[in-house]
Amino acid sequence: MVASGAALAQVVAIDVGHDAAHPGAMGAYGQPEFEYNRALAGVVDAQLRRAGWITTRIQDTGAGMPLEARVPRAVAAGAALLVSIHHDSVQPRYLESAQREGGERFRGYSLFVSRQNAQPEASLACARAVGAALQGAGFVPTTHHAEPIEGENRPWADAALGVYFYDGLRVLRTAPMPALLVEAGVIAHRDEARAAAHPAYQERFAAALARGLDACRPPPQNPPQASESPKRAPGNHLRPAASELARGSTALQP
Ligand SMILES: [Zn+2]
Repeated sequence: MVASGAALAQVVAIDVGHDAAHPGAMGAYGQPEFEYNRALAGVVDAQLRRAGWITTRIQDTGAGMPLEARVPRAVAAGAALLVSIHHDSVQPRYLESAQREGGERFRGYSLFVSRQNAQPEASLACARAVGAALQGAGFVPTTHHAEPIEGENRPWADAALGVYFYDGLRVLRTAPMPALLVEAGVIAHRDEARAAAHPAYQERFAAALARGLDACRPPPQNPPQASESPKRAPGNHLRPAASELARGSTALQP
């Protein structure tokens, strides 16, 4: 089957979290997050191109990649969507006990959107579609970012689908296009760190992510906000009511 997006190929910016100088969280086996992010982003890139997207990757190519440089890159590439790829850790209090029984109780993916993004509804719809696709592929969300402790305490945007609000995240907040941040797994967790480094796991995760992003493919942006005429079937583009932005709403029962 020809990819439905072929006729309306759009650009998705794949933001590879962190850079070599500031490599993010530390994995259970001493490999920094940046390396996990870069590996998964490469697989995601290939999957998205296969699905009919034009991709542009925003990543450190040796000179570092500061946060403030990322969104302008996406804009310059004409991106209709921005996906930031990260891997997760836990608060220090849990890392200190990571080798003890019960210290590894957190694992799973999580998704973040900002209500300060220019297109918060489209961002949330997109994150939900990705959450549903990930769960359809057997991935389970982590709940630890909602814990009422310092450093977490993130409000749920959709608990069932593993979507949190993180309004202040710079890349999400400043993006003029719908944007979401993906924490693909908790690399402080030994089993998850091992899995996340495995190519088959990366392929499975990337395929689910691509399926989710296909469902939130924005409509082609022709001149002035083309009217509602259904010249092209709107497909499964999601556009939730503003009221759905209220926290705690759940689109899918587990
Ligand atoms: Zn990160």
